[in-house]
Amino acid sequence: MLSTVLYRSHLHNHIPINRVQEMVARANERNQLCGVTGILLFDGLHFFQLLEGPDTVVKEIFHRIGIDSRHHNLVTLMQDVAPARRFGNVGMELFDLREHDKADALQAILDKTTYRYSLTYKDRAIQFLRTFLEARDRDHYFEIPAANTWDFATDETSATLPSHSVDTTLDCQFAFQPILDPFSRRITSYEALIRTPTGGSPEEYFAAYDDEAIYHADIQSKRLVFSVAQALGIGEQRISINLLPMSLVKVPNAVEFLLAEIAANGLIPQQVIVEVTENEIISRTDEFSAQVRKLKAAGISLALDDFGSGFAGLSLLSKFQPDKIKIDREIISDVHKSGPKQAIVHAIIKCCSSLEIAVIAEGVEKAEEWMWLEAAGISQFQGYLFARPLLNGLPAVAWPEIK
Ligand code: C2E
Ligand code: MN
Ligand code: MN
Repeated sequence: MLSTVLYRSHLHNHIPINRVQEMVARANERNQLCGVTGILLFDGLHFFQLLEGPDTVVKEIFHRIGIDSRHHNLVTLMQDVAPARRFGNVGMELFDLREHDKADALQAILDKTTYRYSLTYKDRAIQFLRTFLEARDRDHYFEIPAANTWDFATDETSATLPSHSVDTTLDCQFAFQPILDPFSRRITSYEALIRTPTGGSPEEYFAAYDDEAIYHADIQSKRLVFSVAQALGIGEQRISINLLPMSLVKVPNAVEFLLAEIAANGLIPQQVIVEVTENEIISRTDEFSAQVRKLKAAGISLALDDFGSGFAGLSLLSKFQPDKIKIDREIISDVHKSGPKQAIVHAIIKCCSSLEIAVIAEGVEKAEEWMWLEAAGISQFQGYLFARPLLNGLPAVAWPEIK
């Protein structure tokens, strides 16, 4: 099958421009041998390349391109199959945009195409090419520095419950993980994550319960969150708790129970954020909304968790707007390298900004992901890069510092 890859990248500062020609000529010999064709545009700073050829070969060459240290900030824009080559004649032509007038560059490139049927403005690859030529997308090219520009330094220590105050008769425990704003060095909230008595995952914990009992266990467990938070000296920090949406609907007086436990532990509702995932909400939106109104009337705020992973997404958002949205880890992971993920994050940010909804990126593991997201306009993060969840404790944060 004929495979197509399209990417853009930045030339490294220390590479003299005349070396580019040489580099391309050498790569071309290889491309011709293995049947890879395409076009390479260069504007003096950025590369934009279309590779076409047999699937496995394109993958292999693209992998090699990806680890080449002569360029950086490589973003994959498109990976697709095509019925025929667009640039079948040339091995891989280097097209230096500085030698062409902007107005005829596109025509000059289209003149090189070999695919005769309906290859015009309808073709996504050609549209990408045109956008690059017209430099319409440059606002979204972030020059993110290398990951080793930063040190992640921990300056305070973790706070953990002394073992004698861990209640071992209970059927659950909680781990806490901060959500934070790295540049202002502020923790915006601690998320409580349920664990089994032996430290097992939420999945393991809930597996012990049948359908209906899950909801009761979910609500009941939050008593422990508030008491541990108080014992850990949470002070005026905020606490995020996870709830299945149906726990609020199916457990009688769930909201009243939560409010009573918050008060009993010397906390206030304004400190508490309830995180729900979208999956279950859609079936019973009205009943769920009624419970949410009670939470919000009391001062508790609401976050939509794992946004983008389920199927309700945007239609849910049209009916129901939370205070915060947490973008799912699936979208965050390697966002600095993926054109589609970047487009989705930009759209979520724009949408949330119109609705005055705060955006949190979750599952951030790499410095590059964090820097890209900061450049895109996100300021709140959660992930192993900054702190892992700590059982019965508030973990110390690894704050980024310029080396
Ligand atoms: P979540 O609410 O999206 O919580 C974040 C999960 O991602 C946590 O997993 C956390 O440990 C993990 N995580 C955080 N940063 C990173 C990272 O950088 N990389 C990776 N790979 N993972 C990261 P955990 O604790 O296993 O929780 C899984 C899910 O279980 C939670 O996802 C939440 O939906 C659910 N859950 C946790 N506690 C409760 C609870 O009390 N009630 C209910 N109903 N669900 C809960
Ligand atoms: Mn959560
Ligand atoms: Mn989540």
